[in-house]
Amino acid sequence: MLAIREPRDAGAQSAANARVALEAAGEQWTPLRAAVYDALAASPVPASAYDILDVVSQAQGRRMTPTSLYRILDLFVANNLVSRVESKSAFVVNAHPLRRHDCIFLICDTCRTTTHIDDDDAVEQVRGVAGASGFRIDRPVIELRGRCATCLAA
Ligand SMILES: [Zn+2]
Ligand SMILES: [Zn+2]
Repeated sequence: MLAIREPRDAGAQSAANARVALEAAGEQWTPLRAAVYDALAASPVPASAYDILDVVSQAQGRRMTPTSLYRILDLFVANNLVSRVESKSAFVVNAHPLRRHDCIFLICDTCRTTTHIDDDDAVEQVRGVAGASGFRIDRPVIELRGRCATCLAA
C-alpha cells in the first residue's frame, strides 16, 4: 500500500507544467487524469500501477479499472509527463514535462527512493559506445541501483 503524501510546491509546479504539456498535445486534463497524476506526484517512491490504482480508487470513491489506468499511463508516458522506471516496473512524474531528453535514474535499493539526474554528456557517451558496435539506441534506459546518500549516512 502506498503512503499518500501532500504534494509539495515543486509538485504543484510540475503538475502545472504537466497540464501545459498535455494540452499542447491536444489532450484534455480531465479530473481522472489529474487524479492519476496527483497520485504519482505524491508518491515518495516510484509507484506501481497497482499502487496508483488503489490511491486513485480511494480518492475517487469508486474502483478505477486497470484498463483506464493503463490508457492514462500510456498517454502520460507518450507525452513526457511520466517516466517508467523499467527495473522497478513503476512510474514517476517527469521533472521536466516540457523538455524531452534521456534521463538517468538513481534507484536506492534500501529506501526505494529514485532520484533523477540529467547528464547529456554521459548519455551521448553511451550512445557512442553502442554505435561503435553497430547498435542504434532507440530509447536508452539508464538505471543505476545502489544506496542513496541518506541510507549510506544512516
Ligand atoms: Zn531528465
Ligand atoms: Zn536510500
